Amino acid sequence: MLNSGADTMTAGVLTGSLITHLECPNCGRHYSADVIRTVCEDASCLSSLFARYDFTNGLSIDILKGRTATMWRYKEVLPVIHEENVVTLGEGFTPILPLTKLKHLAGDNEVLWKDESGNPTGSFKARGIGAAVSKAKELGIDTIVTPTAGNAGGALAAYAARAGVKAVVYMPKLTPKVFKDECHLYGAQLVEVDGNISDCGRLANEQATANGWFQVSTLKEPYRLEGKKTMGYEIAEQLNWQLPDVILYPTGGGTGLIGLWKAFDEMQQLGWIGNHRPRMVAVQSESCNGIVQAFNGGELSSQFVDGGFTIANGLRVPKPYADKLILKVLRESNGTALSIPDAMMSEALKEIARNEGMLIAPEGAALWQAFKQLKAEQWIKPQEQVLLLNTGSGYKYLENIDV
Ligand SMILES: *Cc1c(COP(=O)(O)O)cnc(C)c1O
Ligand SMILES: [Zn+2]
Repeated sequence: MLNSGADTMTAGVLTGSLITHLECPNCGRHYSADVIRTVCEDASCLSSLFARYDFTNGLSIDILKGRTATMWRYKEVLPVIHEENVVTLGEGFTPILPLTKLKHLAGDNEVLWKDESGNPTGSFKARGIGAAVSKAKELGIDTIVTPTAGNAGGALAAYAARAGVKAVVYMPKLTPKVFKDECHLYGAQLVEVDGNISDCGRLANEQATANGWFQVSTLKEPYRLEGKKTMGYEIAEQLNWQLPDVILYPTGGGTGLIGLWKAFDEMQQLGWIGNHRPRMVAVQSESCNGIVQAFNGGELSSQFVDGGFTIANGLRVPKPYADKLILKVLRESNGTALSIPDAMMSEALKEIARNEGMLIAPEGAALWQAFKQLKAEQWIKPQEQVLLLNTGSGYKYLENIDV
């Protein structure tokens, strides 16, 4: 039905997506990508599912020439098939910024910030939610629900408004007011929960099941991962197809970490990059460091760890659903994991603001402290290029920062 009686500019136009199916990265089962899916249906597996693409005919890097500076420039490796279903607010293609005044603290390491704070709704959640809402629209969904620590709720509210679908958001009561206000302003239904994100997840799941709503909880549906993986494509493209030696990532549910690794796999299959891979570092909040404990203990999965409030609300995920996949990436990449206390995040946030002109989220600020520690321990080696992935804007967190 290509271009037949198109009544809008994009009706009937195809994106050229190479998606073929969904695959379980744990047990290998295949699923159709033409209907709504959540996780692997094998009751003994229940893993997150990965979208797979047909790369047998290759894909030239030249397709990117002249494309829009959003994540949709990589539309062949995104899941949406019809252009008319792409719901976009201009997410992606965020800058990579070198250190300026703080350069002396990096010594002979080149430190780069990939700064996601300029995304719609102020965080990289725009990428994942943008992809998931677009695909949900394509599959005919009318109500989307998510549990959130803050930023995913705002992003879902905005993208649902843009797509013309209903959004229901479950958020801990202790989340700063701005995250709640934006949900209301974008017209979402907000449910404040007396508990943490796991409690929100349980309630969202109950209501989704009872009402037939589609749930986009982290890594319990396949497409947020696809949006977040575009950070990996961008990092490669912006660094001229040469990946950094080390990437530090503030890990909550782990979508970004797993997404980056998936992007590197795909680009290597496409011949867009060689086999040099970054060592991946998961940085957590000291009060919620289940991945760090599991990594250090040599475990394959993490325990439930929740020490209560942290200013980095995006990192308050007591037990990530995809803990096994996160730990696998850390080990495959020869990476590591460490946690940072709130007080140091605050200090780092202010140091970066004062010296670099960037008001980053506490989640991102944790990376600066983590970099200093890993350098002091010589885990980061001389001359290595290090990329810090700042996931959000500090503006939404100011009520918890002592300025
Ligand atoms: C959600 C969030 C994170 C954690 O992202 P995951 O993909 O869940 O690991 C980190 N930083 C910010 C600002 C967030 O909103
Ligand atoms: Zn499976």
